[in-house]
Amino acid sequence: MKPVDKPGRTGALMPVEVALERLLALAESAPILDTESVPVGAGDGRVLAHDLIASLDLPPWPNSAMDGYALNLGDWSGDPLTVSQRIFAGTAPEPLAPGTCARIFTGAPIPAGADCVEMQENTVVQADGRVVFTHALRAGQNIRPKGQETTIGEVVLTAGTRLGPIEQGLAASLGCAELRVMRRVKVAVLSTGDELIEPGQPLGPGQIYNSNRIVLCSWLARMGCEVVDGGILPDDLPATRQRLGELGTVDLILSTGGVSVGEADFLGIALREEGELALWKLAIKPGKPLTCGHFRGVPVIGLPGNPASTLVTFALLARPYLLRLQGVQAVEPLKFQVPAGFVWPKPGNRREYLRGRLEQGRAVIYKNQSSGVLRSAAWAEGLVEVLEDCTLAEGDRVGFIPLSEVLG
Ligand code: AMP
Ligand code: MG
Repeated sequence: MKPVDKPGRTGALMPVEVALERLLALAESAPILDTESVPVGAGDGRVLAHDLIASLDLPPWPNSAMDGYALNLGDWSGDPLTVSQRIFAGTAPEPLAPGTCARIFTGAPIPAGADCVEMQENTVVQADGRVVFTHALRAGQNIRPKGQETTIGEVVLTAGTRLGPIEQGLAASLGCAELRVMRRVKVAVLSTGDELIEPGQPLGPGQIYNSNRIVLCSWLARMGCEVVDGGILPDDLPATRQRLGELGTVDLILSTGGVSVGEADFLGIALREEGELALWKLAIKPGKPLTCGHFRGVPVIGLPGNPASTLVTFALLARPYLLRLQGVQAVEPLKFQVPAGFVWPKPGNRREYLRGRLEQGRAVIYKNQSSGVLRSAAWAEGLVEVLEDCTLAEGDRVGFIPLSEVLG
């Protein structure tokens, strides 16, 4: 990647990091505090409200990592051993009788007195039933010690962790039936624009179907938010005022469209009448204009209306805001560096998030990167980050953010 020196080019635009910092500071200034209890397994996408502290040792007792035979190396002469007991998972063994071995299965408790398990593949059972050990043995082998994973009192998940299948499985392994999580964040989604109609209706002249509403409502639901569907706001001030007044209590008003130059920015006008709203010009492409403010004390984020812009700004700015509101610290998606499988001859003054894929380990990009083309994102596996004021030759490193990282 070659930085191109053009001093002052990005001067008027707000860097993505600055916008993110400001949004996160806003979230921290009025975080969600209420919590609720959910059954373990029903907390997908929710945020843990407290540290999860182990109330058990895991495993609670030493157990066998193999199907095989348990013996005591200390009192073993090397001779074949008689099997004195069979120990299945879920049973409580007797202490190991001296000079014998125990048949044991994976997950079964190690009997007192045994210090080694040999896997059955390395044994031969003689005609008289005694077991011959064919390989060298080592004390402790194939035994999972008590507390190997966790000991009582250890913090296994910290407050602010987002729950998914793995975290909830871990909580279940410690016997937790319920988890305390932050209450759901309630988000009102508003689409603006006279041109918008909902799928299912015939398309009239100049109209387009509303896709942002579906993208955002289903995305928010995946994130564990409670969604208030505010529908489509016409480009009309009285109607906009009325709809805003009907929204009820929410934690965030999230709108799309109508934020570029302000000519048809009735949402902006209505919001300013009863709050404040700033228009940020971001050094991000797609998605330069973004509004941020308050309406009657409720935070407002206004995303640009072009579908790819909506997607990128939601993923990189609104989503982290919503997570931080719930106390999540790690709000930025995983990004890794990969070689570019394309060239970028002309430096831009905004950071580009191209819709791309990995092909043979290289990032390739969709042929049409117009901000109006949602299909680019449906094709893509991730966002390919090209920094501002840079050109790229094939093989130069670019950032790659898997969409799977942010879509939930
Ligand atoms: P705006 O920011 O309102 O000027 O919108 C920018 C572009 O995005 C225009 O082409 C709009 O028609 C389009 N657009 C705005 N909102 C939506 C939406 N909800 N679904 C699909 N396209 C939209
Ligand atoms: Mg519009």
